[in-house]
Amino acid sequence: MKLISVVVPCFNEQEVFAESYKRLSDTLAQLDPQKYTYELIFVNDGSKDNTLQQIQATVAADKHVKGINFARNFGHQIAITAGLDLCTGDAAVVIDADLQDPPQVILEMIEKWEQGFDVIYGKRRERAGESAFKLLTAKYFYRFINRLSDVDIPLDTGDFRLMDRKALDQFLSMRETYRFVRGMVAWIGFNQTSVEYDRESRFAGTTKYPLKKMLRLASDAILSFSNTPLKIASFVGFLASIAAFVGILYALYMRLFTENFVPGWTLLMISVLMIGGLILIVLGIIGEYVGRIYGEIKRRPLYIIRDKFGF
Ligand code: UDP
Ligand code: MG
Repeated sequence: MKLISVVVPCFNEQEVFAESYKRLSDTLAQLDPQKYTYELIFVNDGSKDNTLQQIQATVAADKHVKGINFARNFGHQIAITAGLDLCTGDAAVVIDADLQDPPQVILEMIEKWEQGFDVIYGKRRERAGESAFKLLTAKYFYRFINRLSDVDIPLDTGDFRLMDRKALDQFLSMRETYRFVRGMVAWIGFNQTSVEYDRESRFAGTTKYPLKKMLRLASDAILSFSNTPLKIASFVGFLASIAAFVGILYALYMRLFTENFVPGWTLLMISVLMIGGLILIVLGIIGEYVGRIYGEIKRRPLYIIRDKFGF
């Protein structure tokens, strides 16, 4: 008997929860009961609405269902991690609560898993109901990251994926605070493959990823997987020094070999301002990394669980 764990992060998902639970359990009930059993783990990521009560009621009614209740909102990537930490499956699937990732695809993922793949990620063929802005930024963002960093993060994927226990244990051994889960999973290697699917629009409710959270995810992705911004900082500094050197030669030449050296004030102001600006940019980039080092060095737990249900 193999246990399939399905982890669902939920943040203010009261409009979709019931439908999501129904579709997921209907899908998982199609698995051959001789061979598979399943657990459905809902992680309540500090919702301010009725989500928690719905999770509790579902745990009480269905023995397959378990719930984790965070002490506050820790974010999507951390919620996924908590669910994966506490799951006991031979394989674990991560899926969003909003039914944008069709539960049916899980069955295809399990088939691939049985063929011997360790990580099967969902690759989006179509994405319905997303703003043109989100589509465009997502598209170029992943291409940009792959250029910057040493790991190849598969294009057009999110966090919808199945992981074998072997790969999962390796992933869970990485306890970094700033987490970009899809990058980390790409980084561990193993036998990875994809299944294609059409991403649907949200069943109900609105996105829980406002621009601010998207930007935070993007900077975690870039800064956790690449030192290139630091290199850019020193490269820009280097170029600035060359420019400054040329400026010095010019100033000296004007002073020593010509009569009109007073107007040099303009050049002076320009170079002072330019160098000042560059220094601030470079400091800013370094500061981003230093901030992250500080965050990691505190070694805080990734999340705080208030209650567990059904475990
Ligand atoms: N989510 C979460 N914590 C957050 C934000 C989002 O657990 O702080 C969950 C959310 O409930 C959903 C999944 O992460 O199950 C993806 O969020 P959403 O669908 O809003 O993102 P989008 O599909 O718009 O990128
Ligand atoms: Mg969504």
